[in-house]
Amino acid sequence: MDEETHPPEQAPPSHVVCARCGTATEGDPPPVTWLCSVEDGRRLHFCEDCARLHIRAVESRLDSLWW
Ligand SMILES: [Zn+2]
Repeated sequence: MDEETHPPEQAPPSHVVCARCGTATEGDPPPVTWLCSVEDGRRLHFCEDCARLHIRAVESRLDSLWW
């Protein structure tokens, strides 16, 4: 008998992964320094460093719309 005893249902891992660099947090919700952005109906998270780059990219995109 090599029956494995797995718990019937495992809770999903409670961590958030940066959508840009793949860095994972220790918990959910992520730290306040992380950026949460909704794109195409999906919730994306960006770590502190990537948030800065992302915000700049979003701002430049918005800027181009104004012209
Ligand atoms: Zn990142």
